Amino acid sequence: MIPVIVYIPDGRPRPGELHEAALDVLELRPAEVVLPEATVRDERGGRLFDGSTLMFDPAAGGGPLADAAAERQARAFGVTNAAFHVQRALRFASALLGHPLPHLLVRIGMHNQPRRWHGGHYRLPRASLTDEPAALSCAGEIHLGGGAGFVPAPDGSRYFHAPAHNAAIICHEVGHHLCRHTADFRLNRLRPPAQQTNLKVALDEGTADVFTAILLGTPDIYGWHRAAIAEWDQRRRKLQPRWTMAHFLGGRDQDPHADGTVWASACWSARERVIDTGADAARFDAALLRGMESADAGAHAAQLTKDALTKDALNERRQFSRLLSAITRADPGLAPVVLTAMAEHGIRPGASNTALKDAARADLTGEVGR
Ligand SMILES: [Zn+2]
Repeated sequence: MIPVIVYIPDGRPRPGELHEAALDVLELRPAEVVLPEATVRDERGGRLFDGSTLMFDPAAGGGPLADAAAERQARAFGVTNAAFHVQRALRFASALLGHPLPHLLVRIGMHNQPRRWHGGHYRLPRASLTDEPAALSCAGEIHLGGGAGFVPAPDGSRYFHAPAHNAAIICHEVGHHLCRHTADFRLNRLRPPAQQTNLKVALDEGTADVFTAILLGTPDIYGWHRAAIAEWDQRRRKLQPRWTMAHFLGGRDQDPHADGTVWASACWSARERVIDTGADAARFDAALLRGMESADAGAHAAQLTKDALTKDALNERRQFSRLLSAITRADPGLAPVVLTAMAEHGIRPGASNTALKDAARADLTGEVGR
């Protein structure tokens, strides 16, 4: 265990409060930290670490306006902060699942040309014309940009938006790794290792968001860098106010993040209801993760061949109701509470996303008409 300085988000519009924490490190390289469950590397070269200390100054994110020493501190802090949140998220998931997820590779400072990037994404290997590097890890990789733009603070200061400093972005991408190796919404395990699909459905985005909310303990997961977006705007991706199937759009051209907010918001409500009954929140978290795992087990038993990769099978896996049923089966004792909360978001078992959307909109029209 090596002591590190990291951000712990505190629900305020800032990256978090600085805390000393402990990181379980196998090996320390010049710009890379190897953990038992993940490898976290800054791809921009140079030596960030010497000796065994991992206590760095976030230096307000560093960036193009910072001097070289501050930029080095900010990058070193980014690697350790990302490593801490990745390790925490993966250990949380493996404790609930009862087994570890495949080793994750996290690469920082990616896709910074031709324009700087302040986002992150989760990638599996796929030969394509995009700017992704060749030979991605078959287990999956998280790519974080080197940062772009500044986030203003209420006190007038500003922070260079480096995604490795942003726990919400890190946790969300780990959520995609969890989805890939449990529910596998796109049936990637039936595709050739070098021909995976990176398209995400709403359930994938929504589950990654509620996983982030659980880890950070707040429904306002992007409250720091999206503070300027109104809370009632779906782009804020705050899980309260309540998003329902009436807000769901669906279809190929829609943003799966916005549609995913409906699922994430419903899961968050269900979790709150479980807590209201006096039960431990971890009981909902376990039902969610075990439900995700069992949602894939069915396909395993049925047929693990390429022939099972059909349009129907993919369509089935994008249905909210299917994952809801899997969650209730994972913990039947919680089912009544979870079903009631989900119903308030227009999600119930045994109906397609389109049917749920139509029903929720008809309800709205009825209310307005009355
Ligand atoms: Zn995502």
